[in-house]
Amino acid sequence: MILFKNSVTLKNWLFDQRKKVRKIGFVPTMGALHQGHISLIEASKKMNELTVCSIFVNPTQFNDPKDFDKYPITIENDIQLLETAFCDILFIPSVKEMYPNGLLAPKKYELGNLESVLEGQFRKGHYQGVCMIVERLLQIVMPDNLYLGQKDFQQCMVISKLIGQLGLQEKIAVNICPTLREYDGLAMSSRNMRLSEKERLLAPEIYKALLYIKANMAEKKPSELKNISIKLLEDVGFKVDYVEIADSTTLLPISEWDESKKAVVLVAAYNNEIRLIDNLLLY
Ligand code: AMP
Repeated sequence: MILFKNSVTLKNWLFDQRKKVRKIGFVPTMGALHQGHISLIEASKKMNELTVCSIFVNPTQFNDPKDFDKYPITIENDIQLLETAFCDILFIPSVKEMYPNGLLAPKKYELGNLESVLEGQFRKGHYQGVCMIVERLLQIVMPDNLYLGQKDFQQCMVISKLIGQLGLQEKIAVNICPTLREYDGLAMSSRNMRLSEKERLLAPEIYKALLYIKANMAEKKPSELKNISIKLLEDVGFKVDYVEIADSTTLLPISEWDESKKAVVLVAAYNNEIRLIDNLLLY
């Protein structure tokens, strides 16, 4: 694996490679890698001659500075995992490299309701920060294929919209990969390593709530299921930001089941200090 820290060097190197390789795949991450991330590398390896992974804990997408300060950094382990997965390129830029002109946003991305619902409502400015960094990374890597995890469902929608707005939809294909889970259903996440033993035992209740909703769709309305699962999670000790059953193409809430539309249930809840998110496609 070749490691790059400088964006111009990487961009020029990839420019040369493009004469030799047909497809370049890209997996942007914030590090503290786990098998969920590695599954994206593996998906990229299958379809591309070159796979680029980036590790950058992006300060502009953290609405809570404490969350940014505490974000786990495990770079040596990350490099080892990427080597084992035969990732070709690792890009680890500094904050100065990605934001030479400072962290203030030079423009606003028009994300419509994607920015005001769910994560957007609870993490003000988060998706503006995501768009800022993803636009910069895409300009450097210019991949043919981009790999994202369904775990961050709303983020996948935001980035797809961004790619459209940048006029790159013909150039960059977005590949959304399934959520990898631990043996007990907990969605793999870099944040899981911050859970105490007790919190870790509680964490799979989120996935159980999602499964409960899916299993009871025939009997109960979306609003009933939503309220029952919020109560279930609160009763075991979570502070729930939201449980929402939404149209998976718009993320607008669904009040009645309609099998002609695709639905998804999305959850965000605090397990003490640690905010966990998860989602499940319903049909
Ligand atoms: P992050 O490092 O958390 O920013 O995640 C980098 C990429 O990995 C994003 O596209 C995530 O959606 C994806 N990802 C994170 N967790 C998982 C998981 N459990 N399964 C599959 N992909 C994941």
